[in-house]
Amino acid sequence: MPLPVAPLAAAFLFMANAQTKPLYNSKRWYRLRHHQLREHPLCALCAKLAQVTAATVVDHVVPHRGDVDLFFDPDNLQSLCKRCHDGAKQQLEKSGTLRGCGVDGVPLDANHHWNRASS
Ligand SMILES: [Zn+2]
Repeated sequence: MPLPVAPLAAAFLFMANAQTKPLYNSKRWYRLRHHQLREHPLCALCAKLAQVTAATVVDHVVPHRGDVDLFFDPDNLQSLCKRCHDGAKQQLEKSGTLRGCGVDGVPLDANHHWNRASS
């Protein structure tokens, strides 16, 4: 008899958390996170909306999914406020598109056809 979906999802999340928790608890991550927020103290997404918001979350631009090299790659980090991290960024990872546009009217999503270079 197959397990219901909810326990499978919970098991997956438990395993994923067990895999990445040591990375987030490492001194290397603590230092990297601190350096990122010191060098980039404002939310990168809010800045595109001409809003000044203190960043509190260091986000992986490309989800690392347990990849240690990607996890500690300083070029894969961006500073975000909690609202953008829990809202727009999660929506981007689930749907593949970033909703909304900047103050200039250009869509925020880098993959939007308006933002692609014409050839
Ligand atoms: Zn923000």
